[in-house]
Amino acid sequence: MSHTLNIYEPLSIEAIRAEFPILQTTVYGYPLVYLDNAASTQKPSVVLEALDEYYKTINANVHRGVHHLSQLATDAFEEARRKVAAFINAAHDYEIIFTRGTTNGINTISSTFGRAFLKPGDEVLISAMEHHSNIVPWQMACEYYGAKLKVIPMTDRGELELDEYSRLLNSGRVKIVAVTYVSNSLGTVNPVRDMIRQAHAAGIPVLVDAAQAVQHILIDVQDLDADFLVFSSHKIYGPTGIGVLYGKEAWLNKLPPHEGGGEMIKTVSFGKTTYNDLPFKFEAGTPDMSGAIGLKAALDYVDSIGIDRIQLAEEALLTYALDALSTVPGIRFVGEAEHRAGAISFLLGKHHPFDVGELLDKQGIAVRTGHHCCQPVMDRLDIPGTVRASFSVYNTPSDVDRLVAALVKSGRMLG
Ligand code: PLP
Repeated sequence: MSHTLNIYEPLSIEAIRAEFPILQTTVYGYPLVYLDNAASTQKPSVVLEALDEYYKTINANVHRGVHHLSQLATDAFEEARRKVAAFINAAHDYEIIFTRGTTNGINTISSTFGRAFLKPGDEVLISAMEHHSNIVPWQMACEYYGAKLKVIPMTDRGELELDEYSRLLNSGRVKIVAVTYVSNSLGTVNPVRDMIRQAHAAGIPVLVDAAQAVQHILIDVQDLDADFLVFSSHKIYGPTGIGVLYGKEAWLNKLPPHEGGGEMIKTVSFGKTTYNDLPFKFEAGTPDMSGAIGLKAALDYVDSIGIDRIQLAEEALLTYALDALSTVPGIRFVGEAEHRAGAISFLLGKHHPFDVGELLDKQGIAVRTGHHCCQPVMDRLDIPGTVRASFSVYNTPSDVDRLVAALVKSGRMLG
């Protein structure tokens, strides 16, 4: 794994950039500066080639046929599962469930955990900085089973109020905690390891939304002691349409299946169906074989650089960006947590984030504007939205310089 690489060996960003064909694009005559990585990352050639190779050489349905191609496809699919397990240090390959993405992974747990464990008067604890994907599925489960959604508040700086967390956790009614590792709208890194330890002391399982963490921070599910952890392939250089749900064997075995269909059964009759073992119990229907193989290529790619080195380089870039952006007249940072990763949110004077984003786009710079699927965060901070610049391994200080210059110009144009 990546741990064996020398993390202090600097990255050759130019060589990394050459691996991503889309970075050669020009937008309105400017070389593209892609700073919308929290929404989705670009794909290196090795991922594109793995997808191409899959369809050209081994495409067939998995786990079904005795024929040669089906066996090759099954082997490659299961190898991808082993890769994911190793990448996040799961104890067993069968604790890795392939999903359609983070949203689908959270819905799988909210609905099955709800069915198995939630009853009227119970509480589900989430945080004030969750993405809608980690709010709405729990809200739906609470509504259905008569449970209550409780929210860990956050400070004006965008950090969770941990004293309040302890208080809420110990109500005696909390059945599960679902919390994001890294906030997509503020960049805050939450102390999930400690939060999990506290929850476990109260006998409560924790789901970690790692959608914005897995591409920036080394994730070790055993060290975190997470009960469930979810992420999306497309945010870590892999293809869209596939994601990962990690669950501890003991928990996954306690939950009913999410969807019914092929793959997830052992025997079917009109009278009674018996369910398959892990992980297939949670993988109804034909899975996304090519997606899994593309995700494996993406994780191999990350390992070839080393997530530790990526983390160090990105931290340095974030520090550089915060310094450089603070020189822009009228800028106001939104979210100033001590520990942060991946994203910087801000406002420019009194201007609407959308207007700023549009002017940046016209200068070849892709950022995200709006509420970032975190309307409660915007309500809490009493703002309509933010401009968000989010970074990944291929971003450089000169991307930041371009952003700063374009912001200064946009500020002048908007008056
Ligand atoms: N959770 C967080 C923190 C996110 O940032 C996102 C996407 O931006 C999601 C969940 C949802 O991910 P997906 O749309 O890939 O399911």
